[in-house]
Amino acid sequence: MRIVLVGPPGAGKGTQAHVLAKTLSIPHISTGDLFRANISQGTPLGLEAKGYMDAGRLVPDEVTIGMAKDRLAQEDAAHGFLLDGFPRNLVQAKALDEILAESGIALNGVLDLEVPEDEVVKRIAGRRLCRNDGSHVFHVHYNAPSVEGVCDECGGELYQRADDTESTVRNRLEVYHTETEPIIEYYAQQGLVTTIPALGKVDEVTQRAVDALEQRKQA
Ligand code: AMP
Repeated sequence: MRIVLVGPPGAGKGTQAHVLAKTLSIPHISTGDLFRANISQGTPLGLEAKGYMDAGRLVPDEVTIGMAKDRLAQEDAAHGFLLDGFPRNLVQAKALDEILAESGIALNGVLDLEVPEDEVVKRIAGRRLCRNDGSHVFHVHYNAPSVEGVCDECGGELYQRADDTESTVRNRLEVYHTETEPIIEYYAQQGLVTTIPALGKVDEVTQRAVDALEQRKQA
């Protein structure tokens, strides 16, 4: 399946994408993770992206679309993928349509994770990521690791994202409303969107997502 996951920062996209991708045996492609990997490796792409990310702004489209296109061209994405954090505006959504159309394929569905705004801020403040693999996501209250500061999945060190501060989160939410929400309407017009409530336990939300995708498959 070829799926896009959308939702505000803190909706649990990374957490859900990690589990869903495993369940569906497709790669989890997160542009945020790709940027963070570039930053930690000190690449020119990482250097360019860092300033935008720290400010909670979108990295310019040419850079982001080029990076996503390269990743989608890798062999493991040939039979499906779960996109997390891309596309994030209409320009990127249309570019993705073109990239897929070049291979004669299209998206199967868009999962929209819905979460109230006050919950978003609470979630982000306690979020911790693994240094080895950014898709291993924990929360100090809601999804605490067995040992504080250590990833349950691989033993990696847990850290707080540089852009998970309150002022950056406010910018990211603003950007989400103005830039990203319009893509939900764009995809809804193509009949691709299923909105699921992202409140509750991680595995409850995963179950809702799996059920929604199952229905898409049968449609
Ligand atoms: P995320 O991990 O998806 O929350 O992304 C973290 C940050 O990376 C965002 O706030 C943006 O600065 C940048 N970023 C990730 N994906 C994109 C994208 N598709 N377009 C532009 N910037 C992005």
